[in-house]
Amino acid sequence: MKIRLSYGTAVKMGLHRGKMLAEPTTAYVMLGETCKSNCSFCAQRRDARKENYLSRIIWPEYSVEVLKEINGFSRICFQTLDYENVVDDLLVILPMITNIPVSVSIVPIPREDMVKLKNAGVQIISIALDAANEEIFTKVKGAGVGNRFTWKGHWKALRDVISIFGTANTHLIVGLGESDEDLVKVMLSLKKENITTALFSFTPVQGGAQPDVGRYRVIQLARFLIYRGYEDFLELTGGKISKIMVPEREKKSVERGLPFLTSGCPGCNRPFYNERPGGIIYNYPRKMRGNEIKDALEQLRNYSQLVF
Ligand code: SF4
Repeated sequence: MKIRLSYGTAVKMGLHRGKMLAEPTTAYVMLGETCKSNCSFCAQRRDARKENYLSRIIWPEYSVEVLKEINGFSRICFQTLDYENVVDDLLVILPMITNIPVSVSIVPIPREDMVKLKNAGVQIISIALDAANEEIFTKVKGAGVGNRFTWKGHWKALRDVISIFGTANTHLIVGLGESDEDLVKVMLSLKKENITTALFSFTPVQGGAQPDVGRYRVIQLARFLIYRGYEDFLELTGGKISKIMVPEREKKSVERGLPFLTSGCPGCNRPFYNERPGGIIYNYPRKMRGNEIKDALEQLRNYSQLVF
């Protein structure tokens, strides 16, 4: 069986020669040759497949056997395409991985298959909502692009995951046309249901623009505070976060730049998923330097009033 490794994963494993600008702490594995779905923001979508790409990343191909050698990572994440035998393939591969926590990012699958994956050692399942509200979901990854997915179906699958695993993860993309309020509302609902959120910035595969970095910083800070258990720390004006107040107890974390690091499963840093080397870093894959934290707060202040 063939798999693809993210460029950084392959370099770190010594399988590919190249430079790593930031070392991946999770090994990212893409599973599946073609995707039957057509999400508008995805490089692997049915109607415009960019072979070897997912988000901004190149994914060289290897035999699945290389996974037997895997070490030096704090997690392995299978990013699966939507295809018929995906669960069967995972069940063949999972017994090869014994010493490292496993995450699987997958489309909604039947409950019985979730149980099989749990019994085979999967720790976290991620089902990506990507969109912050039902209307945008339908437009970018539902009926609007000829997919079978529905907002309700994804939420049901996330709840199935919770009932089996106790927790679940989802991905949200900032910049698909949603308001800040949509993002805040959906993150509050996700948090209430014990679903963690990994934030991505929209990365154009064909047209469109990445979100304003100041807006992204505000959403990162909102995500951080929501998952620390806060609810009343911001003001909205016409759907936009106009003011964000950092609670006293969180000031140190913000001063260390924690809200601006990659979010998601423990140990996941996804270097350069959303960034061009040398360009704006949306999700920091490593500890931030003093000047980077200062810049991030400055960017944030250009978008919202920060009470800090
Ligand atoms: S947060 Fe990271 S490790 Fe978890 S499913 Fe997403 S990409 Fe994989």
